[in-house]
Amino acid sequence: MLVALSLAGQFHAANPQWGEVTIWATAIVTAALFFVSIILHELSHAAVAKARGLPVRSITLFALGGVAQIEKDATDPKTEFWMALVGPIASVVIGSACLGIASVLGWRTSTAPETPLVAMLMWLGVINIALGVFNMIPGYPLDGGRVFRAIVWWVTGDADRATRIASLLGQFVAFVFIVWGVFRFFNGGGFGGLWMAFIGWFLLDAARASYAHLKITETLQGIRVGDVMTQDCPRVDGLDNLQTLVDEHLLRTGQRCFVVEEKGSIAGIITPHEVKAVPRTRWPYTTVEEVMQPLDRLHTVRPDTSVTEALETMGREDVNQLPVIKDGRIAGIISRSHILRTLQTRAELHG
Ligand SMILES: [Zn+2]
Repeated sequence: MLVALSLAGQFHAANPQWGEVTIWATAIVTAALFFVSIILHELSHAAVAKARGLPVRSITLFALGGVAQIEKDATDPKTEFWMALVGPIASVVIGSACLGIASVLGWRTSTAPETPLVAMLMWLGVINIALGVFNMIPGYPLDGGRVFRAIVWWVTGDADRATRIASLLGQFVAFVFIVWGVFRFFNGGGFGGLWMAFIGWFLLDAARASYAHLKITETLQGIRVGDVMTQDCPRVDGLDNLQTLVDEHLLRTGQRCFVVEEKGSIAGIITPHEVKAVPRTRWPYTTVEEVMQPLDRLHTVRPDTSVTEALETMGREDVNQLPVIKDGRIAGIISRSHILRTLQTRAELHG
């Protein structure tokens, strides 16, 4: 809507003789095509990722552009390099094609566009080339920052160092944006300056977040669910009441997750979360099996699932633990706190 509104304003100023209907129709179609070209940019990232065997879950469009959700990070610098570079290339190609068609239709660089079609092509051409150039700014996690990280990785052979350097450069670029934007704002730059500072703030946040994410992924690389899960999950009887569960198990053992048994087989799991949902006065009259999370409704993982994938599943399902199933039986439980402990231990050992 914002893009369409601002385009309508531009067309109004340049070609008021087109009339309201033509101006608004052109603005809306142009805005829609702008998002189509962002999707094409993201699809080009996704296509290279897929060709290199990295699964792509989704493409998200938001106010500041798009993001292709690629489920795994590239394992070699060449893949990272091409995966990042192809997006800006796609944008520049789309932009050049638009300008090319506009010039075939009679547009000359020195003149303002006269027909709606030429105006649309010209705007799309300029914005896509600008998008390609902006994305090549070496501010990680922008495409340019990824290209930069891949080159450092390629040259030094050290992914960890490349991440650190690219993230530092990304934060530096973000600072430049913020300082320059604020400076422009106080020197009569108005909204443009604020907008620039806002983009800088967004980049700073993104650079920090992706650094943290990469560190976690690197630390957890190669660790399987089976390596960190608890195997000796305390078991409770499904017919016990909640008061017994709290007094005998929850408070006494300090464990947060219990496997519920019914007639010798496993029926589900119960955590403090489910207990809390029942008023304290009802605890003696409510059985564990009434409030537990039944096994058939739980998302499960296998011992050979990677820990990063388990974390992603927990994030998606908004839970703190997952039962680990092997040969149809519960082999253990993996929780966020297990993974956190593993991360802390590894961080300590690596000094
Ligand atoms: Zn991109």
